[in-house]
Amino acid sequence: MPQAEKEYDVIIIGGGPAGLAAALYTARDRYSTLILEKNGLPGGQIMLTEHVENYPGYQKISGFELVEQMKAQVASFGAETVIGKAANAIRRRDDGKIEVDVNNGELTYVARAIIVCPGSDYRSLDVTGETEMRQATRVSYCATCDGAFYRGKHVLVIGGGNTAAEDTVYLATRFTEKVTMIHRRTEFRAEKVLVEELYAAADEHNIDIKLPYVPTEIVATENGQDIDHVKIQNVETGAIEELNVDGVFIFVGMNPNTAWLQGIVDIDESGYIKADPVTMKTSMPGVFTAGDCRCAAAMQLATATADGVVAAMQLRDYFRDPSSWSGGQCDHSTEGW
Ligand code: NAP
Repeated sequence: MPQAEKEYDVIIIGGGPAGLAAALYTARDRYSTLILEKNGLPGGQIMLTEHVENYPGYQKISGFELVEQMKAQVASFGAETVIGKAANAIRRRDDGKIEVDVNNGELTYVARAIIVCPGSDYRSLDVTGETEMRQATRVSYCATCDGAFYRGKHVLVIGGGNTAAEDTVYLATRFTEKVTMIHRRTEFRAEKVLVEELYAAADEHNIDIKLPYVPTEIVATENGQDIDHVKIQNVETGAIEELNVDGVFIFVGMNPNTAWLQGIVDIDESGYIKADPVTMKTSMPGVFTAGDCRCAAAMQLATATADGVVAAMQLRDYFRDPSSWSGGQCDHSTEGW
């Protein structure tokens, strides 16, 4: 039986913007608050964003700097953070308190309530050669992280959402000699304004947009260190083309980090936590959620922080009257934002 750590009023699982915003409110309410962060640094996906321009109050700030400010703010009100602690399980005890096992049962933390904010990770395509070329650092899922490696090079972008539209322009205007962009449909999922910006940048910055195309194979050079070419297929004609590119950026969405919660709280078919969108209550009494991991989340920094605030405020009511609980409903799909 793992040793139980100190008890807290609230444990927040995940130290991204949703978790940090929740901690700000619970700590200011003088609830003892612990943030469990599985990585070496809190912050989540926003840490990989070079410029945040759509968070109210900041015209432009890097994700890293914004998280630094959030962390300092949260710590100033007494919230504790432990890093390198991945939650594996949550159990509700007979006395109503909730246990959180971390690092495969290495430790167990106990709290009166939990706010689950594990965020989402990049989705892969599972196309032949993707894993090998990812290991060789020729396949990337983050333009901010890896764009600078492709100065004067030709890269392939795959995807048709906001990330693909924005990051194609980002790559083409800052680094690359050419970007070929493919998307599996003739219509983009991305917002109209971003699609307009994409087409506006296409001529001047050598962006070749090919619709509807899918990749079928990423073929390595003989030594396995580089990409020789990528095979792409026209979805309408079936014709295969070979593209000589130096790198591939895959922007096909996110996977919520909720596999460990299967069978513990209700989760939808895409892996998002079912939660009442007004209260952030999951199907397990005392367990709230917030951020990109929840069903119907808008996947925005501002909405993730808003979720965290809502969960923290609902916690007050829960502590006042733990007996009534209604959660775990979500009628909306996360897809389609
Ligand atoms: P997304 O909106 O889910 O788009 C994923 C794209 O990848 C879609 O175009 C999808 O095609 C394509 N795709 C998915 N699986 C594929 C496969 N197996 N093969 C080929 N293509 C595939 O993901 P996202 O662009 O990363 O955005 C995630 C969320 O963040 C969204 O809610 C988005 O609005 C938000 N976001 C917002 C901003 C902003 O506001 N500035 C910037 C970036 C992201 P289909 O369209 O055919 O499904």
